[in-house]
Amino acid sequence: MPNKMQVRAIEVGTVIDHIPQGMGIRILKFFQLTDKPDCITIGLNLRTASGDRKDIIKIENTQFTREQANQLSLFAGEATINVIDNYNVVDKYTVNLPETVVGVLSCPNSNCITHEEQVSSRFHVKVRAEVVNLSCHYCEKSYQPRVFKELL
Ligand SMILES: [Zn+2]
Repeated sequence: MPNKMQVRAIEVGTVIDHIPQGMGIRILKFFQLTDKPDCITIGLNLRTASGDRKDIIKIENTQFTREQANQLSLFAGEATINVIDNYNVVDKYTVNLPETVVGVLSCPNSNCITHEEQVSSRFHVKVRAEVVNLSCHYCEKSYQPRVFKELL
């Protein structure tokens, strides 16, 4: 059999392609995708045409907002989102780092006011020397994504 990777086609939903190897599982967890009843097909360590490995996630009956899709770039900067309707790709776009991430990450600084008061966390995303940094709007400390427990 030829070395074909495909996971079966879906009728309506979203395919997240070009996820770095190992990040597929984290994305499922982070977005709590498995908490919903939608059928999800995941392919791990699939071989790409260039010989690299990647993960792919297909979620039926689900569409992401651009904001949600852009949060994916914290894990998968090269991810491609394919919007599927009637088995066809009706929209396809790449994700971009958001300028801010609001309400989804908790500040690693335990003294940060966001742990004391009912405010949504807010981080400003900056890239320095190709490294993503998230700086807290409230305590102004700067962190790399790997220190956020939500992103582990
Ligand atoms: Zn903070």
